[in-house]
Amino acid sequence: MALKTQAPQHSAYDVVIIGGAIMGASTAWFLTDTKDFDGKVLVVERDSSYANASTSHTNSCMRQQFSAELNVRISQFAADFVKNIRSYMGGDPRVPDLSIRSFGYMYLADTDGFADVLRANQQVQRAAGAATQLMTAAQIKAAYPFYCVDDIILGSINLVDEGFWDGGAVFDWWRRQSRERGVEYVENEVVAINRNAAGTRVDSVTLKSGEVIACGTVVNASGPRAAATARMAGIEVPVEPRKRYSWIFKADKPLDRDLPLTIDPSGVHVRENGGGIYQCGGHGDLDPAVDYDDFTMDHGLWESHVWPILATRIPQFEAIKVQSEWAGHYAMNTFDHNAIMGPHSRLANFLFLNGFSGHGLQQSPAMGRGTAEWITYGGYRALDLTPFNYDRIAANRPIIERAII
Ligand SMILES: Cc1cc2nc3c(=O)[nH]c(=O)nc-3n(C[C@H](O)[C@H](O)[C@H](O)COP(=O)(O)OP(=O)(O)OC[C@H]3O[C@@H](n4cnc5c(N)ncnc54)[C@H](O)[C@@H]3O)c2cc1C
Repeated sequence: MALKTQAPQHSAYDVVIIGGAIMGASTAWFLTDTKDFDGKVLVVERDSSYANASTSHTNSCMRQQFSAELNVRISQFAADFVKNIRSYMGGDPRVPDLSIRSFGYMYLADTDGFADVLRANQQVQRAAGAATQLMTAAQIKAAYPFYCVDDIILGSINLVDEGFWDGGAVFDWWRRQSRERGVEYVENEVVAINRNAAGTRVDSVTLKSGEVIACGTVVNASGPRAAATARMAGIEVPVEPRKRYSWIFKADKPLDRDLPLTIDPSGVHVRENGGGIYQCGGHGDLDPAVDYDDFTMDHGLWESHVWPILATRIPQFEAIKVQSEWAGHYAMNTFDHNAIMGPHSRLANFLFLNGFSGHGLQQSPAMGRGTAEWITYGGYRALDLTPFNYDRIAANRPIIERAII
């Protein structure tokens, strides 16, 4: 399908954001909300239906069960933002009240090694103020009788500010209010990034429709296409698209209580949607990088791999009917599975906002706020995000996040 293109109103902007999904929208909105920023912002989005954006394929859940403290703090800000969205958005009465459906994430360990990881993670999380509890197999069975826990050594769950939230509503309101405050969104594609003669700054971007747009700062918010965008600026970033499959199913006999977002030791995960409907996710044994436009569903995976695991863990799920299924892309940071943010060392006005490796939706408030702070002040204010700097890759200083789903 040929994409439409819209021409921007101006030929120069203070900030050009490449990609208008959750990260681009968050950055644009936080710029409009930063009192010392009064520049012009253009968001260029190649497909404003967002049909294939990770943002549209997400599970839309948040958790505080991470191994890196900074990731816990980032999700705590997400929880605060979501629960107080109207007040963050200036008390606008049109903004809905949102909440978090805190059914918790239940990590299950079937080896001593992974049980030790859960214990170590819990210490980090509790120190950061998260309410994570460890549970023995007997405790899990007593609280959630529907699980089979014969092989389980330990579980870990947090029932405070951990579960489903309406990412779509936050996304819509960020776009709506930032447009009202003067941000321009166009449907177009950045096809070239033009540097100065010394190669030290980005001067402009070229759009698919031919316009050359001068810019003060460029933000790479292009999700799984992050590496293709960076390459236009002569930079490599270790981010690639990895397929993640989702299934929505209806249970013949719904569970009698909320199902936490359960991460089976196999990696298959499943959660409550309400009304006897559940949502499951997983991927194949091989997990190669795929083409940017490859969203083909693996129709055999459910029967051969996912359903048997699910029905073993929760025998009541032997009788279910799949209602819909889709393939989406994680923007996988193959270096350390964490965000890559901030400027490039040799191209100071090119900012990364990439590599969220499956936990970006919940990171969007903190990362958009941080990027807006960096553009305005040349540094982070509310939460120090410098550990996620691009420089760590060249310096081979990974921030390992062990809780990747
Ligand atoms: C199955 C699945 C489940 C997930 N579950 C969760 C979850 O429960 N919780 C969580 O926190 N995260 C989850 N995530 C991850 C989360 O959805 C992503 O991290 C987040 O949506 C990333 O947002 P983004 O804006 O960076 O990327 P995207 O949403 O992919 O947006 C990038 C945008 O950039 C545009 N673009 C690319 N190149 C160009 C160009 N050259 N010019 C113009 N536009 C361009 C694209 O069209 C796209 O709209 C999940 C992801 C998947 C796939």
